[in-house]
Parts: sequence; C-alpha cells; structure tokens
Amino acid sequence: RLNIKKITTGSKSLDDLLGGGIETKTITEFYGEYGSGKTQICHQLSVNVQLPPERGGLSGKAVYVDTEGTFRWERIEAMARGLGLEPDQVMDNIFYMRAYNSDHQVSIIDDLFTFVPKNDVRLVVVDSVTSHFRAEFPGREHLAERQQKLNAHLHQLMRLAEAFNIAVVVTNQVMARPDVFYGDPTTAVGGHVLAHTPGVRVQLRRSKGNKRIARVVDAPHLPEGEAVFVITEEGIRD
Ligand code: ADP
Ligand code: MG
Repeated sequence: RLNIKKITTGSKSLDDLLGGGIETKTITEFYGEYGSGKTQICHQLSVNVQLPPERGGLSGKAVYVDTEGTFRWERIEAMARGLGLEPDQVMDNIFYMRAYNSDHQVSIIDDLFTFVPKNDVRLVVVDSVTSHFRAEFPGREHLAERQQKLNAHLHQLMRLAEAFNIAVVVTNQVMARPDVFYGDPTTAVGGHVLAHTPGVRVQLRRSKGNKRIARVVDAPHLPEGEAVFVITEEGIRD
C-alpha cells in the first residue's frame, strides 16, 4: 500500500466512509439502482481529481469512458463553477471516450496503457462497466461467458490502476426487483461485479429528495456504517 493517494468525493461524510476518498492503485465500484447517483459521482470525481492535493485532488486529468451516453459537459461546467475552477480548463482536462460495445470498451482500456502515462491521467472512470456485457451476453445461458469476459476486463483495469498509481472508478446498475431477474446474480441488489477482483465496493441508494445513502460492502479495512450525501446543481456535497 505504498504511495496510495486519495481523491475527495466532495462529501466529507462519504470521504470518511471511504477512509479519506477514492484511492489510487485500486478499483472502486459504485453500484445501485437507476438514479442512485453513480454517474453524478463519476462526473464529480473527474473534476475533483484536478484539484491540488491541499483541496483533495491529485492535480491530474481524467479519462471518462462512457458506455451509456449519459455523460454531460454541462454537469462538468456546473461542478467546476461550484469549486471556483475555470470550466473550460476543467473540461480540457477530461478525455471523453464513448465505448460502443464491449470489445471497443476493452480496446479503449488497452490503449490507456500508453495514453495514461503520456497525459498526466490520475483517474479512469468506466460508466458503466457492465451495460455492454449484459446486453451482448444476455440471460442465464450466457452468464458464465459474460462473467469470464467481465472478470478479464476488471483484471485489465486493476493492472492499469496499479501500473500507473491511478484511481479507477466503475459503476454497475442493479435492479430494484432482483426476483424479476432470477438467475442473474450480477443484476440483483448486492450483486456487485467486483466479487472476484480486489477493490472497494460502494452501494448507493436513494433517500428523501436529493439525499443519497452510501454503504461500503466487504471492506474489512474500512469502518462499517453509512454515509449520507446530497446531489446539488454544484455537485456532490454533505
Ligand atoms: P445513476 O447514474 O445512478 O443512474 P445519476 O448519477 O444519473 O444516477 O443521478 C441522477 C440524479 O442526479 C437525478 O435524479 C437528480 O437527483 C440528480 N441530478 C442530476 N443533475 C442534477 C442537477 N443539475 N442538479 C441537481 N441534481 C441533479
Ligand atoms: Mg448512470
């Protein structure tokens, strides 16, 4: 655990739950239902990684791999303004990459092994890591093949995190009614994809209004409990 650095989420409560923020040299998975805040956290971290260390960042750039088309530059602008940063500069420091299928997603990550060290990248986001794999290998009959491909992809991301001492953040959407998706454990609530990969798993769920609740799962080195945060126009806050 040498040289591990942390990126603030924007919420002190969530940072405390994570032991100070999102760590480098590891994969952090945010999983939860639609609207639980996964994509907003990914946007916020892509801005926050650019902050200087004294403000909780790594003075670095971000790669945002978008598989669902839910990335919005306007959110980056609003979050940059919320931190008193120059929006144009913050946007210049985010490398947006759209992944059109699972093979494309894997090849984008392959290319990052040369791209990351050349471009001062300290954070790679994959939002979401699972959607293409689920769409291309549907149902129980393809579960083993999908899981094998997904595990290889996660392994590739883990090597990337370790090789360049960067943070990797992935998201995974799970269903409200796991019983409806019988036979597919990765879509069930609690069915995080990192089961066989080292990393930090964070479950998100909706609360009242703009409140969200985060819980760290299966992390013996982190305190038990939950963190409450809010999603505002300016981004993630306490
Ligand atoms: P997920 O990726 O988990 O499906 P999102 O991260 O996209 O969920 O979260 C969507 C939620 O974020 C919205 O329901 C809304 O509550 C909040 N949100 C999105 N944009 C804004 C905004 N501009 N101002 C305030 N809240 C916002
Ligand atoms: Mg999303």
